[in-house]
Amino acid sequence: MLFSSQELLWLLLPVAAASGWFMARREGKRKPTGLQDRFDLPEAYFRGLNFLLNEQPDKAIEVFIKVLEVNSETAETHLALGNLFRRRGEVERAIRIHQNLIARPTLDREQRSLALLELGQDYLKAGLLDRAENLFSELIENRMYSQQALRWLLHIYQQEKEWEKAIDISRRLARVTKTPMDDVIAQYYCELAEARFTAGNDTDARTYLRKAFASDSKCVRASILLGDLEASEHRDPEAIKAWKRIEEQDPLFLGEVATRIANAYRRLGDETGLYEYFDAALARQQGSGLMLVLADIIKDRDGIDAAEKFVANWLRQNPSVHGLTRLIELNMLQSEGAARDDLVMLKGIIEHLGEQRQGYACQHCGFRGNSLYWLCPGCSHWNTVKPIAEQVE
Ligand SMILES: [Zn+2]
Repeated sequence: MLFSSQELLWLLLPVAAASGWFMARREGKRKPTGLQDRFDLPEAYFRGLNFLLNEQPDKAIEVFIKVLEVNSETAETHLALGNLFRRRGEVERAIRIHQNLIARPTLDREQRSLALLELGQDYLKAGLLDRAENLFSELIENRMYSQQALRWLLHIYQQEKEWEKAIDISRRLARVTKTPMDDVIAQYYCELAEARFTAGNDTDARTYLRKAFASDSKCVRASILLGDLEASEHRDPEAIKAWKRIEEQDPLFLGEVATRIANAYRRLGDETGLYEYFDAALARQQGSGLMLVLADIIKDRDGIDAAEKFVANWLRQNPSVHGLTRLIELNMLQSEGAARDDLVMLKGIIEHLGEQRQGYACQHCGFRGNSLYWLCPGCSHWNTVKPIAEQVE
């Protein structure tokens, strides 16, 4: 990819003007670094211009890079040029420009730091994560562009799944920006807990989950994980307790664990507890996830007719499913004695509701998908993807 001639002209014309002005001024006020500079720059500029006019922008760029003197006056243009190269995917060129910039002793501290910040991003884009990490760490040590450098470091550690380091950087970033990151830190602890749990190290997993809760008491993911961990250790009452906590943390997510809670009650043989919990939970939250589980419970306990009645009743009370309710009512009128037909239809509706329930959406960027992500694949924000509140029109 190359710059268009016009684009380059617009970028470099002011530089030429500024350089001419600078040359003239320097003669009077500062000691000249060499006679050659004064005459080389305009000449080279016109040589570059000539390449542009002959539609050889690549050669033109080479000339401009070579001859543009790096000093406090032109550093900004070099930075802009490097930035453009990187955005166009020409990372090697961007690296060359920024390295060239950093090598100049005439740059002031501010400009050198800015070039380091840019070079770090070049390395990141080139996949040279170690080098990028070193540059950003240097900036933080020098207390230059700390906030940006911390953000980029966090990006690297997240990509590398170095969660302990990500936690450390998040704490520092939260201090610098005075913006709490506790919910994100809890997610990092959950990552650690999940990895230990998968590896069979329950003790460490529990420790990390405790830290996740300490960081963010509303961390739904930690509750889900703790419930899974308890259930895997055959501690069903504790598992139920962990999953139930989600209703207070974020009721939207209760549907995620409804089946797990029901199965734990069944393993305990506690049919009464099972019915009572879901009956009460559904009265508090009108989620179809809970309704489907309760319909199943009623079917097992009181038979198919009762379950059908329960579902029809639920649909009637739910204003977003008016159409469906009506359909059921009509069908019931027509199908005298054909309870089986009703059941087939109801089953279809329940299945449809089940499918509807599976949607997730990011509240930050609008990303939609069929699985739950704690880190949005669309915008890389934590805790922004949530189950879609079901709507059947
Ligand atoms: Zn998003």
